[in-house]
Amino acid sequence: MTMLSTITLPKVIIDSHCHGRDLKQSYKTTILQVLREARRSSISITAFMPNTNPAITTVSVLEDYTRRMKTARRSLGLPHEQLVYFGATDYNLKQCDEALDHPSVVGIKDYPIGEEGKSVTTGSHIGVANDDTIFDLLRLVREKNKVIAFHCDDPSIIKEEGKHTIRAETEYIKRVLSIARQVPNAKIVICHVSSKESAQLVLSAQKDGIKVAMELMPQYLWFDAEGTNWNPELDPVFYHCFNNLRTSQDREFLIKLLASDNRNILIASDSACHTKEEKLKNKFGGIPSNQEMVPVIITLAKKLNLSDERVAQLLSFNASDFLGIPVSRELVTVHVRQKIDDLKYNHGAVVNPWKGTKLFFPCKKTK
Ligand SMILES: [Zn+2]
Repeated sequence: MTMLSTITLPKVIIDSHCHGRDLKQSYKTTILQVLREARRSSISITAFMPNTNPAITTVSVLEDYTRRMKTARRSLGLPHEQLVYFGATDYNLKQCDEALDHPSVVGIKDYPIGEEGKSVTTGSHIGVANDDTIFDLLRLVREKNKVIAFHCDDPSIIKEEGKHTIRAETEYIKRVLSIARQVPNAKIVICHVSSKESAQLVLSAQKDGIKVAMELMPQYLWFDAEGTNWNPELDPVFYHCFNNLRTSQDREFLIKLLASDNRNILIASDSACHTKEEKLKNKFGGIPSNQEMVPVIITLAKKLNLSDERVAQLLSFNASDFLGIPVSRELVTVHVRQKIDDLKYNHGAVVNPWKGTKLFFPCKKTK
């Protein structure tokens, strides 16, 4: 027997961090497939990440990608424009300048790279090594009234410690925040905050007046490195992501932030598909979650007894305000049904680590 109840959701839901792949990685997933999955799970607007192959670090790749976004959107009949981040390198400031004038570009994405030019995330060569570049990018996004999002994982500490530790995450956050202090009013996003310490750094910078938002992703709110909520039938590699999952205390701290009144918390999926074969063979990091983003938040909202307004802030209004995406403030009542997740990603080419999870899924709108 299934339980049917209702919940109030924002009419427009924004997923401000998602990997659409496509181009040479269409076998993992495509923009069209991701948008189809997003629509199925009530997401209206998706912002895609630029660590594609080739990477979105030139205006010509950007134009190719936004053409594909428009074609996919049109073929699904989606009412909203979809968005994309433009990737920074140490050598493309002029291209960043031009890209930020593009109406589909929500901001700049910074991935850290080490001295030897190796990216810390799975993907093509993309990223920034020099603090001077970060400084220039902060000034640029401030001038254009856009944002810059940071993947925080310090390459030198990863090298030193041999893994992606919390310290690697917090040291990079500190580095970004200290540069941000020199460029007041530049808007920055700290991506996929995974630990209590990282969240506290962002909260204290907000108190100091820095315009910094933190992204919270469903995977860090539901899973942790202790194996909580993992499907025992799946290889642990399917729970491997960047930043890494941390302890249950970290997870619980992040969950509590949902219930705060902080307007600079953005919920996003960080859906990052790799094929089953790639995950098993190459141990790539990334968890697909755009179909579970809304169900996880609904499920936690019920548990935490969050107000309708707070749910709307988390799923839409906070991202709308911080990232400058104008959307309707309308709320709609939807039926939700508690069920065991059996969703497929890219027709099953990608293993769904949420398989078997009991969540409240939105069904249809009520009158
Ligand atoms: Zn990502």
